[in-house]
Amino acid sequence: MFRQAALRACPTWLENKLTSIYFRAKSISSNGFRGSHSLSTTVDHSNMKVQILPALQDNYMYLIIDEATQEAAVVDPVDPETVAAAVQQNNVKLTKVLTTHHHWDHAGGNAKLLKSFNDLTIYGGDDRIEAINHKITHNDTFNIGNLSVKCLATPCHTRGHICYYVTGEEHPPSVFTGDTLFAGGCGRFFEGTADQMYKALIEILGSLPEETKVYCGHEYTANNLKFGLHVEPENKAIQQKLDWSHEQRANNLPTVPSTIKDEKLTNPFMRVHEPTVMKHAQQNDPIQTMSYLRREKDNFKA
Ligand SMILES: [Zn+2]
Repeated sequence: MFRQAALRACPTWLENKLTSIYFRAKSISSNGFRGSHSLSTTVDHSNMKVQILPALQDNYMYLIIDEATQEAAVVDPVDPETVAAAVQQNNVKLTKVLTTHHHWDHAGGNAKLLKSFNDLTIYGGDDRIEAINHKITHNDTFNIGNLSVKCLATPCHTRGHICYYVTGEEHPPSVFTGDTLFAGGCGRFFEGTADQMYKALIEILGSLPEETKVYCGHEYTANNLKFGLHVEPENKAIQQKLDWSHEQRANNLPTVPSTIKDEKLTNPFMRVHEPTVMKHAQQNDPIQTMSYLRREKDNFKA
């Protein structure tokens, strides 16, 4: 909470510096400096592979590989050494960095990674992103080999936040949601409103195909689902997913990816139209419900 208050009035360089110190300290206190919160695992979607790379205390970076061309991109490479090792292990050509937003625990490795790999295109939707060299906006598209990427602007957590929607010929689509949509929750509204998060979660992400895999920026699932149960104590899907999340975490395994369908069943912030959720918030409007839930979650002790 120190971080939020202290950062509000800072210039970007100082904000990045302070945030860097904060996350390093948090990381050291919980795992020792080079420790990892989860095992790295790989999800195979026939012609696309996603390697989940844990970083810091609870961040996730993702190496996306197009199997046909062996071209690769990385999402939010805050730990460039781990990314470089994964690129080498997979023997792929890293050409692109997909940055979701400018916060240090997502963008703080960009400059260093750019030094190790020539001709990296660093995508993002915010001039504050470290080493950005290709700014994108809503609905812009580009490729990773034969895979197509569509940029979805989802301002609220930060005003330049982008989610990346990746499709190929065979596999189910995937969306990389940074700190906008988490499994079971959503990011804090640092630079936006409930109205904007409603647009992001319900209108943009909520309209993606239900089988879309959701790769989010942090391992927050169990705590998010505990809040979800507080909102909807009778929701069996949340209880089941919470039990599963505890098992995964006990084995040091990630709880990502989720799916859009799963989120619609278990994430209170994607359920603001449900009578049970509105009743809990004592609201009859979904955007007011979103606003209430975020305030309540900000003070919720799991
Ligand atoms: Zn963030």
